[in-house]
Amino acid sequence: MDAKLQKFIEGMPKIELHLHIEGTMEPEMLMQLAQRNGIELPYKDIEELKAAYKRGSAYENLQEFLDLYYQGMNVLCTEEDFYDLTKAYLKQVASENVTHTEIFFDPQGHTMDRGKDKDGNPYPTVSFETAINGITRALDEAKTEGLEVQVDGRTEKRKVTSKLIMSFLRHMSEEDGFKVLEQAKPHMDKIDGFGLDSSEWGREPALFERLYETLRKDYPEKKLLAHAGEEGPAAYVEQALDVLKIDRIDHGNHVLDDEQLTSRVASQGQGMTVCPLSNLKLSHKVKGARFGHDEEVVMTDLGQHRIKDMLAKNLKASVHSDDPAFFDGYMNANYIQLARAQDLKQEDIVQLAQNAIDTSFLSPAEKAEKTTELADYVTRFNAAQRFVNPEAGQVRKFG
Ligand SMILES: [Zn+2]
Repeated sequence: MDAKLQKFIEGMPKIELHLHIEGTMEPEMLMQLAQRNGIELPYKDIEELKAAYKRGSAYENLQEFLDLYYQGMNVLCTEEDFYDLTKAYLKQVASENVTHTEIFFDPQGHTMDRGKDKDGNPYPTVSFETAINGITRALDEAKTEGLEVQVDGRTEKRKVTSKLIMSFLRHMSEEDGFKVLEQAKPHMDKIDGFGLDSSEWGREPALFERLYETLRKDYPEKKLLAHAGEEGPAAYVEQALDVLKIDRIDHGNHVLDDEQLTSRVASQGQGMTVCPLSNLKLSHKVKGARFGHDEEVVMTDLGQHRIKDMLAKNLKASVHSDDPAFFDGYMNANYIQLARAQDLKQEDIVQLAQNAIDTSFLSPAEKAEKTTELADYVTRFNAAQRFVNPEAGQVRKFG
């Protein structure tokens, strides 16, 4: 991939639609919060903890990742912790020119029994209120005051707008889902939608039919999502659409396995929030482990990603980071590594960014604004390139 396209991606205004805030727990922050809260970690130092993140290589299996992920959750104890975590993420993506983000949080991971440390002491649980107040304080500040980021050696203030999606853990029961919904009731003004995440295989969407029915009835103005077709089959996506009646599909890689479903999702313009580095890092060695048979789940290198098929079939696929601290990269890294492996062109990148705008939960007026902003960026970037190197551009042709 040429340096020009990388520069184009880095400077492009972007929207993130698939991000678990708990998945932004960098090893340094995990260590710092553990110390602040007097929590003992099963790692002797930061180097050992960093090694557990397996930077640049795949996790042995899904469980290895989940163990680390829940270890990260266990150090989140106070409102300040949630605030610090969220703010660090927002600063990172603001520096990458992300202007809007729709983030998930997993309240059940905080309010439920978190297990015991190696000495048998239970990890402290936190209230729904503690988690959501810390997260929304950081989100609100980023919207109103903006964040200080370093750009080319100087400090700049950038604003990031956001939506907050409360997610249900699908490895837990529907009954547990109803319980956490009860806790969420006093905070509905801070919640824009509901999602379904955690391990998908064997937990078909229909298990949550009653819960989603209640959500639709009681909160008709809120958006509905579900992780579907990440490790589960195309049939799970169909169920999520027909039974849960979701507005947007999280992941959706396996939609492509079913031709009829592919045309349906394409013609309905349903968003699919694809997470390339996540797909890669969870897929290397999970072949068989999660399925009990030998099917290749998603891919073993990004060259095998089906993103081009998705675009060719007019699916509204877009690129996101999922759990960036654990999957080796935020938005720019996802775009750049995918573009490199797939030899994507500028127009493919723009299409992906436009799909994110189109399928975001922004208002029509806000979408129009983002669309203009993106188009202006493309024009400006290409004009500047021609200025730098007139031989390469169209200037000469018309001169
Ligand atoms: Zn996810």
